[in-house]
Amino acid sequence: MSVLTVRETASAIRGGSVTARSVVENALGVMEREDGRLRAMVCVRGDEALLAADAVDERVKRGDPVGALVGVPVVVKDNICTSGVATTCSSAILRDFVPPYDAHVVERLRAADAILLGKTNLDEFAMGSSTENSATSVTLNPWDELRVPGGSSGGSAVAVAAGMAPVALGSDTGGSIRQPAAFCGTVGLKPTYGRVSRYGLVAFGSSLDQIGPLTRTVEDAAIVLGAISGYDERDSTSADRAVPDYAAGLDRPMKGLRIGVPPECFGEGLSDTVRHSVEAALDVYRGEGAEIVEVHLPHLSYAVACYYVVATAEASSNLARYDGVHYGHRAADPEDIIDLYSRTREEGFGDEVKRRIMLGTYVLSSGYYDAYYLKALKVRALIRRDFEEAFSRVDVIASPVTPTTAFALGEKTDDPLAMYLADIYTISANLAGTCAISLPCGFDGGGGSDGGGGSGGVGLPIGLQLIGSWFEEEALLAAAHGYQLLTDHHERWPSDAA
Ligand code: GLN
Repeated sequence: MSVLTVRETASAIRGGSVTARSVVENALGVMEREDGRLRAMVCVRGDEALLAADAVDERVKRGDPVGALVGVPVVVKDNICTSGVATTCSSAILRDFVPPYDAHVVERLRAADAILLGKTNLDEFAMGSSTENSATSVTLNPWDELRVPGGSSGGSAVAVAAGMAPVALGSDTGGSIRQPAAFCGTVGLKPTYGRVSRYGLVAFGSSLDQIGPLTRTVEDAAIVLGAISGYDERDSTSADRAVPDYAAGLDRPMKGLRIGVPPECFGEGLSDTVRHSVEAALDVYRGEGAEIVEVHLPHLSYAVACYYVVATAEASSNLARYDGVHYGHRAADPEDIIDLYSRTREEGFGDEVKRRIMLGTYVLSSGYYDAYYLKALKVRALIRRDFEEAFSRVDVIASPVTPTTAFALGEKTDDPLAMYLADIYTISANLAGTCAISLPCGFDGGGGSDGGGGSGGVGLPIGLQLIGSWFEEEALLAAAHGYQLLTDHHERWPSDAA
């Protein structure tokens, strides 16, 4: 399979050895061939993409200056607003919503001369871990089409894994970039909270949400992060800090790198195959002279409970705006305003979103606020403190991304708690606001989710998580890039799985 990386694509187009049109045609061709089955895309804007590609080719021909992502095909999770292009959040309530503006990240991508091919599927309003909670379609894992791609940015991960685009944007509130990246064998980066503007990202949990790239290589993630980061006055939590040249800072020696390993992340519930791959990855670092240091995250066991209180509380508040009056779906022939609100929401939201709204409303309600929401905020502060303590001793923290490889379609749909519990390794980075990356570190050997032995193929991908300190994306990316220089897990394609 020959799909170029972001770096290769941009440099080939800039140098005139390929045209943006041919790159875009190729990407659209892969979508056409693969997406009827995989269903990663919510919408594809082929004609507009080809026009944009021609405009880029004209400029290259004239010798005009072009951006860092010149001609690079990009797909964007469908909870990120795109001017004139429907942004549905894979929800019936926003089925016909066409934003009149671009999200900050989309403005940045266009300014860097990237080419938007379309929007990707997600769990409705980004609530879920499997992309099964989508009102649009169920997305399949390209490594095994009976398995979930992860979520909620499942469409983004599949688009990159299947070669439809070298980069996708996702959003990560509690692992939604890193977990699907792990399940689909791609890189997924959640930047530090505040690094990337949330302007135009449809809010789920505003104190947790962050946009980031899914790519095949860490280098590509660094290039895209550089393009989308930076201060934006329209997001009051956006950080007014300089944006380093992330791609230029990737080559750092592994020798002396201090990697913290929390035993709390290697306990009960972690499958042997994931454990072995992550431990083998640590051996790679050790072999290069990195120092492996035990650190502790004593409050990790409270992270799932804490997250599902904070995230649902914020979601119940953010989703109050879908009332059938402002925009989106409106129930027909309401008897009065209450009937309009309740039927609009009854008809427009799916089960998981309703569950979250009920949970969130409950934990914020008078009489329960102190016991749940306030308590969760205190636990969140303790989790943040655990990380402060750990980062006073190490440069990055290593852990698994997920307890198992991709689970079967339908396996957890009737058991929301089991679905929530599997978020254990990813959500604390959101609660603390640190940056974190998922990168391929092995395969489970075929025969299905951690089944070992079997089909003879490589099996399902496994992710290594590295967590970095606040605004230390340079160190995080360098540590991850160093691993990719020494390994080839990220060079496998789903066709190797058969
Ligand atoms: N799986 C988590 C949830 O369902 C994370 C979602 C996300 O990061 N958007 O809330």
